Amino acid sequence: MQKLAIIGGGIIGMTLANYLNLNKFEVTLYDEGVGQATKASAGIISPWLSKRRNKQWYALAKDGAAFFPKLLLDFSLTPDIYQKSGTLIFRPENQLDELWTLAELHRKEAPEIGEISHLSALEAAEKIPLLRPQPALMISGGGRLDGQAYLTHLSNRAKAQGMLIVEQSVRLIKENQLEVGGELKNYDQIVLTPGPHLKQLLSPLGYQVDIRPQKGQLLVFQTDDPHTGQWPVAMLEGEGDLIPFARGKVLIGATHENEQAWDLAPSKIAYSPLLESLAQYLRDPSDFLTHLTDVRVGTRAYTSDFSPFFGAVTDQLLVASGLGSSGLTTGPYIGYLLADFLNNGNKKWSNYQKTLDHYIR
Ligand SMILES: Cc1cc2nc3c(=O)[nH]c(=O)nc-3n(C[C@H](O)[C@H](O)[C@H](O)COP(=O)(O)OP(=O)(O)OC[C@H]3O[C@@H](n4cnc5c(N)ncnc54)[C@H](O)[C@@H]3O)c2cc1C
Repeated sequence: MQKLAIIGGGIIGMTLANYLNLNKFEVTLYDEGVGQATKASAGIISPWLSKRRNKQWYALAKDGAAFFPKLLLDFSLTPDIYQKSGTLIFRPENQLDELWTLAELHRKEAPEIGEISHLSALEAAEKIPLLRPQPALMISGGGRLDGQAYLTHLSNRAKAQGMLIVEQSVRLIKENQLEVGGELKNYDQIVLTPGPHLKQLLSPLGYQVDIRPQKGQLLVFQTDDPHTGQWPVAMLEGEGDLIPFARGKVLIGATHENEQAWDLAPSKIAYSPLLESLAQYLRDPSDFLTHLTDVRVGTRAYTSDFSPFFGAVTDQLLVASGLGSSGLTTGPYIGYLLADFLNNGNKKWSNYQKTLDHYIR
């Protein structure tokens, strides 16, 4: 049995833990829980119409989205955690044809996009009555993931299988050694999945890491509409997307605040522009905006080229970070690929990223 430690219980670390072969590894997961992006986020899984031109990122995001049906079955995810809800995309009418052509093109390689249809203003308003009528493009394969609910479910599953989950901050002393509460602990394998904290964890060992933190805020509204669980996700123009969940919960997000970096305090000045652009879409803004019940804040990790990276730094040390604003889409698949490497020696990731030395020196 090999002793394996995971540092970071966000979407990568927790998925990895649940895919590891427990006949081969004795697993301990450490998570300090501060500023975690996964817990703050919720969760558009719909990467196909992104304007990004990075082909490796697109391949990873496309395959990450295609991985969800397997994830759903492997971990018995309930609709409160993940649901293929469909995605409504709102753009000025003259851009919808262009998007439709792009979606049809991408569907050849990504059939999981599902049905693509133009909705009239009235049809779109029937899907989400909160919004005033305007035409939209509907993609039936889009989904939504509640990051917090996903982690709770996977954490319970991991504990039930005998894994140790320790809520504590740790330091990396050597490639195979951690300091936990003043005590040194040796491992056969260590996997670092700490989001933007990777730089701080690796720098005492002399590594330079291309990672920067970015603050993100997500707004939680509680409406009295009992049908929100059946609504699709709405991708609006600008940053303010609308992600509905069951029992009246509607999330609006998210901000992208580079200057605020590690700050975890809700800031109205920063999230007000989200509400202003949302108001143009709402049927009754003055009513909806009074139902704000919570503001979630998390810290995303970005690399200079906005691309995730993951893999082995040494025989004993693996890393994954830099998931940016699409980590709910790519994170579970990255966790699975890392587990496949540790369990079986498979390394199926060269198509998805540049080599690690682009990010870690
Ligand atoms: C507001 C917001 C909205 C988002 N919306 C979407 C979306 O709609 N779709 C999408 O695909 N993505 C979205 N994202 C992005 C996505 O949430 C992230 O990319 C993803 O969750 C990152 O996962 P991770 O596992 O790499 O890191 P994290 O979830 O940040 O987890 C890292 C964990 O490591 C812990 N840690 C760090 N250092 C240590 C240490 N020394 N010891 C112990 N523990 C440590 C941290 O406390 C944290 O809990 C959003 C992000 C935010 C903030």
